[in-house]
This record gives sequence, C-alpha cells and structure tokens, in this order.
Amino acid sequence: MRKIAVGTALITLTLTAAPAPAAAHPPVGGGGPAALSPLARQLARQPLPAGDGWAAAGPGTTGGAAASPDQVHVVTSRAELVAALGSDNPKIVYVKGTIDGFEGADGRLLDCTDLADPGYSLDAYLAAYDPAVWGRAAPSGPVEEARLRSVSNQTRHTQVEVGSNTTVIGLRGARLAGLTLMIDRVSNVIVRNITFDDARDCFPAWSPTDGETGNWNSQFDQISVRRSENVWIDHNTFTDGDNPDRAQPSYFGRPYQVHDGSLDITHTASLVTVSWNRFDGRDKVMLIGSSNTVGPDVDRLKVTLHHNLFDRSSQRLPRVRFGQVDVYNNAYRLGGESFEYAIGVGVQSAVYAENNHFTLDAGIGAADLLYNWDGTAITTRGNWAKPAGGAARPVDLVAAYNVVHDPDLSPDAGWTPALRHGPVLPAPLVPLVVGPLAGADRLPL
Ligand code: CA
Ligand code: CA
Repeated sequence: MRKIAVGTALITLTLTAAPAPAAAHPPVGGGGPAALSPLARQLARQPLPAGDGWAAAGPGTTGGAAASPDQVHVVTSRAELVAALGSDNPKIVYVKGTIDGFEGADGRLLDCTDLADPGYSLDAYLAAYDPAVWGRAAPSGPVEEARLRSVSNQTRHTQVEVGSNTTVIGLRGARLAGLTLMIDRVSNVIVRNITFDDARDCFPAWSPTDGETGNWNSQFDQISVRRSENVWIDHNTFTDGDNPDRAQPSYFGRPYQVHDGSLDITHTASLVTVSWNRFDGRDKVMLIGSSNTVGPDVDRLKVTLHHNLFDRSSQRLPRVRFGQVDVYNNAYRLGGESFEYAIGVGVQSAVYAENNHFTLDAGIGAADLLYNWDGTAITTRGNWAKPAGGAARPVDLVAAYNVVHDPDLSPDAGWTPALRHGPVLPAPLVPLVVGPLAGADRLPL
C-alpha cells in the first residue's frame, strides 16, 4: 500500500470498513469460469446501485448481470478478449493476468515498426515537417499519409470494441496494457477492477498550431466512451507504467507525447458514472466533450465522478464541455512540474464540485485548481485544500480563482445533483477513505 499522510489509527479504521481482504480469496488457479470464487461471481453480476450517479438514470446500468452460463468468459489473451467483448449478448468477461494490445496472432508482442506503413518512419516524419523547413502549416503529403495508414494499422490492433450489455472485470492483478477499450455506439457497460497500463500511440502527430510553438498529440485513450449511454467505470487504475511521459524525448522543442486520455467521454456520450478509480501520474486524464461546436453534445455528456483519486496527474481532472457533471468526494494529490490545472470549465459546462479534497505541493495554490476553457460558471461547495506545509482548510474554489483570473466565473452552474448513492463524506475524510480504497485490486476478487 502507498504511504499516505494520515495517522495509522485512521488507516486501520478505514480498512476495517473495506471489503474482505485479498488474502481470504486467493487467485483462481484454473482457466475457466468453474474456478471462480463465489465473491468473483457475485461482484461480476453486481449492477450499479440505484441512484449511484448519472449512469443510474434511465434504465440504469446492469452490464452483464443477466449473462447466461455460456456467456461467462475468462480471457487471458488479446484474441480471447476481442472475441468475448464483441457481441451485444449479456456477458461477463473476466480478465486474467496481463493482456497486451500489441500481442500478435502467435502471442508474440509486436512493436511499432511491425505496425508502421512502409512509407513511414519517425526520421522521415521529422525531416519532412521540421518547422524550420515546413513552416507552421499542418503536415500533409506522402509521409503524413503513411503516418495515417500506420495509425489505422495500430487502431485495428490495439483498439478493442466493447459490445452492449457487458461487464468486463479483472481478476486480482488483471492488466490491460498498450490497449484501448472502445465503448462506442453501445449501452449498458461496466468496467471494474482492471489496471490500464500505457496505451501508447506509435505514431504521434505534429500539430504546429497547437499552442504557441506547436505540440505532439496522440490518440488511443485507455478507455474511450463515445455515442454510448449507461456506462459505469469503477475501481480501475490508470497508469503509464514503465513508459512515463518524462522518459520521452523532445522533437521540434516539444515533448514527444505518445499518450492521450485515460478516460475520455465524448461524441454525445452520456449517463456515465466514474467511481473509485485511481489516475496515477498521467498527463491528460478525462476529457468530457471534445468539441466546442454547439450541436449534438448539448444536453448530453452527463457524468458523475466520485471517490476517485487523482494522484500526481496533470490536467483534465476532468475538463468539461456542455455536460452537467457532478464531481464529489474525489481526492486530488497535485504537484510536479507538469501540473496544469484540476477542473477545466469549458463551453456551456455545468460542473458541480462538492466536498473534494486537494493536497497541494509547494507552488500550487487554490487559484490554480480551476481553468477557464471558455466556460462561464461552476458550483463549488464544501471543498478543502491542504497547502504544502500547512493544514487542510475549506477553500472557495471560485472565489480563489476569481481573485487571480479574469473574466470571473459565476459560482452557480444552475443545477443540483440528485443522483448520489450513500452519504457524501465531509471533505477532510475523503483522502483517508479514497486513498486506500480507490483503484484496481481493492475489490475482493
Ligand atoms: Ca482522446
Ligand atoms: Ca477576477
């Protein structure tokens, strides 16, 4: 367990309230569903509790709770995962061990050169689009076209489509590496107890007009939710593993970014609950709404985030456009050179941020926690911040922001969340509970 800055008595109390410890339920030994523990069977059929956030709206979210016995799968390879997730039948898919999106048909791991189009190499790309030669126009021509074909190759390999009426749940230690779960044009999906590790893009794009001096951008989120409803993402860990951004080189004076979002919810998706997840040392975490166009996203993008731990992640915690987004009882540990902001207030967004707790490193103040991406308002109530070397105390996020920034944000986002399950904790308790209990391998599978 990670060291957290609280008394051991409190940790003991918190863990007493936790689900049964892992030691009581050793990993299953066999390969098939017959070897699953009673608790693993029970958790896989657990629906989202009534009233637990936006994913409880409408028909609610049951995932694969109604799966027949022949629709319960234990998968250990990429090919098995792809086959098991594809249908719309009610189904339960247990992930066992590590499955890597780069697994080839023979189980051998492919590398980026295996997926590259013959016309693409990074050296050729750098030579063609160096701003000193190419200027500040978007890349075009044969090398860019070859990069796009390479991206398509990778998409076919590392992006895995999830059908409707699915619960995908990790057995202890389950890990999806180098892989994107694509939840697109479906409904009723549950994802629990999985570590998502390093969904890297082999073929980042140079975007010369992104920012003052251009930027490298990637695709391949760890989970993408698009054009879908009733999705519950619970007790997962999101990490870059042994491939952190700081290990990447710089090209054209900008960091070569091979990672995109942890959990992006875009393209009219709605009714999503994101609970008890751990976002560990990532850059772009959660984009809710990807376009400023006032169109089909209006009245969509309704998401609840509760009891998540944002641990040393840099931005988009979350960043919101259009949606009514409830952000309560989340724990933030913010710091490091790459920190940008926590909650992004975008076009027509309506974030309600209540009883969250922010632990801040030196150099980060309460005024740095919001960022205005052309929004107008956010409701903030009962949040606390603990500055470096100081005691935790209540913080008015909007007032702190408005002192330093213009234009001011209004403190009323115009709605009050109704869909919450269980008591809302006072902010000072949030890090004590969320710290040890959020993330994969906390549920007793
Ligand atoms: Ca994305
Ligand atoms: Ca101001």
